[in-house]
Amino acid sequence: MNDIVRDHSAAAGNDLRPTGLTDFTGQSDALENLSVYVRSARRRGDPLDHVLFHGPPGLGKTTLSQIIANEMGTGFKSVSAPAIKKPGEIATLLVALERGDVLFVDEIHRLPLFVEEVLYSAMEDSKITILVGEGYQQPEPIEVPIQPFTLVGATTRKGSLSQPLLDRFGIPVRLEYYDDEALTEILKNAARKMGEFPGDEECREIARRSRGTPRIAIRILKRLRDFREDAGVEYDMDFVIACLDRLGIGPDGLDEHDTRYLDALRDMFGGGPVGIETMSIALSESRDTLETSIEPFLIRNGLIAKTNRGRVLVDAQE
Ligand code: ADP
Repeated sequence: MNDIVRDHSAAAGNDLRPTGLTDFTGQSDALENLSVYVRSARRRGDPLDHVLFHGPPGLGKTTLSQIIANEMGTGFKSVSAPAIKKPGEIATLLVALERGDVLFVDEIHRLPLFVEEVLYSAMEDSKITILVGEGYQQPEPIEVPIQPFTLVGATTRKGSLSQPLLDRFGIPVRLEYYDDEALTEILKNAARKMGEFPGDEECREIARRSRGTPRIAIRILKRLRDFREDAGVEYDMDFVIACLDRLGIGPDGLDEHDTRYLDALRDMFGGGPVGIETMSIALSESRDTLETSIEPFLIRNGLIAKTNRGRVLVDAQE
């Protein structure tokens, strides 16, 4: 395997992921259209157009990319944008692709510019230009044909992508936070695969406290399994609530990061407005973490707002 290619296989511990569009729960609006595009491309025998998944972390961007490859019956290669350090690495990856393969590029907003430029002609014209030259010779550009493929990009920051790159994605898909019903279903399926059997009500309680995010729901379920095995008990609501408390997840679904953020905004900055850089220093968290993982959930729940003078606590405004 190429050094920069990532392994998402079941052997890598991801066997809870759904594998087909029909067993993927939630995101129904986006998936209805995506299923049509996949079916039509498959019927025509064409590679699927390039897809961009955007939205907060843990909502299923990687999972859906693998599902696309499964549904199209093609190969799947995965790479994280910041891992690509040299033009030769992306060229090697592209040249090795077979017709219709899915190349999944995670964190695509962090692609170095030289890679982005290689991708333009790869995505549009199925060719790349490489520089060839030995010793003291002036390197010469040579065009190399590649197989038509599907680039699937994932990003938590669509706004940071350059316009020329954005323009090359024929299928942009925005992933939304999941509602409690969808998350309950996801938890029940994951629990069954793990050989765990919490009741429907217990799953719903975990779902309510999972910030609308399958990755968090499944993470909580795994910790509950640890607690259950350790205590040698069966699931019931008291046990689940005690575990959630023990994990620092409150009844409103706020975890300790959310609470720290809200406490800082209220106690250190009088409810704001306060700039993102100042919040980042006060909490010792990167700006990226605040903007992509913490704030979207707090904004969605009406707890904070972004104003042009900075972040404010919503109840402090009233
Ligand atoms: P992202 O790439 O958006 O950060 P992932 O695709 O890695 O998210 O998903 C995170 C975790 O949540 C994975 O373990 C995946 O199996 C699970 N997951 C995400 N969406 C779903 C879904 N709709 N149904 C079942 N599991 C899901």
